[in-house]
Amino acid sequence: MVEELKTLISLQQIDSQILFLKQQSEIIPSEIKKIDDLISKFQKDLENENKKLIELEKRKKDKEREIEDLNEKIRKLKEKTSQIKTNKEYQALLGEIRKVEETIESAEENLLLIFYDIDEFKKRIEQNKRDRLSKKSELENEKRQLEEKINRLHNEIEKLKEMRKNIASNLPSELYEEYKELMKKHKGLAVTEVVNSVCQGCFLHIPPQLYVEIKLNQSIKYCPQCGRVLFFKAKENKEEQQVSSE
Ligand SMILES: [Zn+2]
Repeated sequence: MVEELKTLISLQQIDSQILFLKQQSEIIPSEIKKIDDLISKFQKDLENENKKLIELEKRKKDKEREIEDLNEKIRKLKEKTSQIKTNKEYQALLGEIRKVEETIESAEENLLLIFYDIDEFKKRIEQNKRDRLSKKSELENEKRQLEEKINRLHNEIEKLKEMRKNIASNLPSELYEEYKELMKKHKGLAVTEVVNSVCQGCFLHIPPQLYVEIKLNQSIKYCPQCGRVLFFKAKENKEEQQVSSE
């Protein structure tokens, strides 16, 4: 195979690898962001739970104050009994006291329910805290692995770029410029194989005469349709012959 074609093929291989690693590394920041979002959502969940607990505590206090006020009201009503003159007034006062007592009773039932709610809610918060803590350490672990992966990918890319520089320096500058143009035009695939006389870049069926020349790999040949540099792998030839002889 002519040396320049070999060099172009190696350059393409290394560039494809770089592109592949770049694509892999580019999706990682959004994965890390997803993890960060989840972790900060945990914090928000905890804040919301604490807010709800404060609300419940406030309801409890309000209820306790309400009961205190009602007890005070009864105390005052009972004080009045000494000033009462008639039985009718007395009965009315007793009725009033009974009413307030009933109100206290239902307020106390209510308070018990609030106590119960607070207890249950505190248990739930504790459980949620534990769940989130273990989930959080899982997520942080995942994040660490992703960060390591992105570093590894960047290092590999840097190494490949170094190798690439060496390879590219072997090409005549005109050919290298041409290669770069093709890379830009075809989003990273400038040099491609011909398999069963089909360009693997644009899937054009290569005319027979050109195909014969490409098979020789003795000069730089281009696809008549997409303009990519074409080459031929001898191994494919055998397969092709096998396929056609079957
Ligand atoms: Zn083509």
